[in-house]
Amino acid sequence: MESKRSLLAVKDLLIDLVFPRVCVSCGKSNNSLCGFCKQSINPAFGSKLVPDIDELIFVWRYDNRAVKSLIKSLKYDFITSLENDLRFFLNQEIYAKRLRGFCSSGCLVPVPLHKKRELWRGFNQSVKIAQIISETTGLPARNDLIRRVTFTEQQAHLGLNERLLNLKGAFKATEVPVSTETAILVDDVVTTGATLSAIAQELKKKGFLHIKAVVLAA
Ligand SMILES: [Zn+2]
Repeated sequence: MESKRSLLAVKDLLIDLVFPRVCVSCGKSNNSLCGFCKQSINPAFGSKLVPDIDELIFVWRYDNRAVKSLIKSLKYDFITSLENDLRFFLNQEIYAKRLRGFCSSGCLVPVPLHKKRELWRGFNQSVKIAQIISETTGLPARNDLIRRVTFTEQQAHLGLNERLLNLKGAFKATEVPVSTETAILVDDVVTTGATLSAIAQELKKKGFLHIKAVVLAA
């Protein structure tokens, strides 16, 4: 883990040398998210109804330009300093208080990527987000409860029902013994909620009583 972390630090340093760092949102400054753009991000906690999810909260609105840039870059650009930016936000009392209230018991379950996609991307952003929420709330993050067993193409153009159909059998809960009171799914963005719903159905089959979800943006 440590060696992986220092390798990532070296990789960041090399990237900095070749591509001088600019703000992922406004393209100015020499930070991955500049002070100006950081200031434009304020908590916008809200909830959204998703089938099979008892309660879902989101932290930000996805239509905030800096939020959108932060989330996209967390997902695709391998910029480790953005992880620290996310930590900076979620550890602030105004965020932490709300997250601790919502995540009062159970375990955090990041939405898994298919192995093929995770290998290609190098990491799963939901795992990283769950780690940070785990630090803030004290709840354990469990990456071993659910696996993605089928590789589905991106489904941005599909509606909820088509997505649900597409995701049939995509996730499989593992046999790891665990207290099955509450699972809190963690993801970066929610659109139709089909992925969360498919996972919730699978975890309920394993006996989980309550399935909630925290996402960064909606
Ligand atoms: Zn900026």
